[in-house]
Amino acid sequence: MTQLPDGAVDVKNLTKIYGRGDGARSALDTISLTVPRGSFFALLGPNGAGKSTFINILAGLVNKTSGEVRIWGHDILTEERLARSSIGIVPQELNLDAFFTPRQALELQAGFYGVPKSERRTDELLNAVGLTDKADSFSRSLSGGMQRRLLIAKAMAHSPPVLILDEPTAGVDIQLRQRLWSYVQELNDSGVTVLLTTHYLEEAQALCDTVAIINKGRVIACEDKSSLLKRLDHKTLTLSLNTALSDIPPQLAAYAPQLASPHSLMLHYKTGNVEIAEILEAVQAAGLHFTDLSTQEADLEDIFLMLTKDGEIG
Ligand code: ADP
Repeated sequence: MTQLPDGAVDVKNLTKIYGRGDGARSALDTISLTVPRGSFFALLGPNGAGKSTFINILAGLVNKTSGEVRIWGHDILTEERLARSSIGIVPQELNLDAFFTPRQALELQAGFYGVPKSERRTDELLNAVGLTDKADSFSRSLSGGMQRRLLIAKAMAHSPPVLILDEPTAGVDIQLRQRLWSYVQELNDSGVTVLLTTHYLEEAQALCDTVAIINKGRVIACEDKSSLLKRLDHKTLTLSLNTALSDIPPQLAAYAPQLASPHSLMLHYKTGNVEIAEILEAVQAAGLHFTDLSTQEADLEDIFLMLTKDGEIG
């Protein structure tokens, strides 16, 4: 038995330049990153960062200009077939054939990858994505959310070890999103490596264990979510005041005070430098009384904004 690769997807110095001559435009600039085997990995970045280009190169839809890409240890050029059969891709667009039923779509997909009939998982997949009832209806009669779930089932029809989801919840309502995520989470728990691009940073924060952020074709962060979140070591303390405040006492200036409303004062501090007790003493010394307090940590959105803010990145 051959050893499993540490990197489900391994990319070294990947460059993509669209066009030629004066019109040439770099979309990916010597990107190197590893999607650890078994991880739930988020690839994040503002519009135009190069995410689709990256996913399309993995999918074999866009040719790279240079660099090396391995999927499950297989080079996408020299071992194309093995690389291709190691991933399932859920595309952004709903690209289902309107005249196939979900059952037919899954059977065809499995057949395309040469999965013998006895090893097909059509019923299991239909059940997992909540489409058993619709198994024999034409795809055109499925709602957008159902079509998206069918696309996930289709991507898994040949049981690939790596599942790539490109903006899978765009336009899917909240309940269906939860259902979709619980299935993807189950797949990940069973060992499937999941690579996800999403605009919903709160989804990435809730689901993923590893996060890469790309901007202008370069990787600006790629690490454990928890270590990434620690990069912004600031917290916000919010106090509910029992009397309305119009002017912020100068004693609190060190904590970047902000009045969210006359009864709600926000104070910002660095967790490494300041103890909360010290801030509360300053609040008391300023003669303020509060009825409640809460603290908020930096989230993925704060980190994302900090790292992708124009001018801060080279
Ligand atoms: P994202 O998915 O993060 O929004 P893209 O990969 O779509 O980013 O785009 C990265 C850059 O490459 C952008 O500047 C975009 O305009 C450019 N680009 C993408 N596709 C093409 C193409 N087919 N031809 C020329 N330029 C492209």
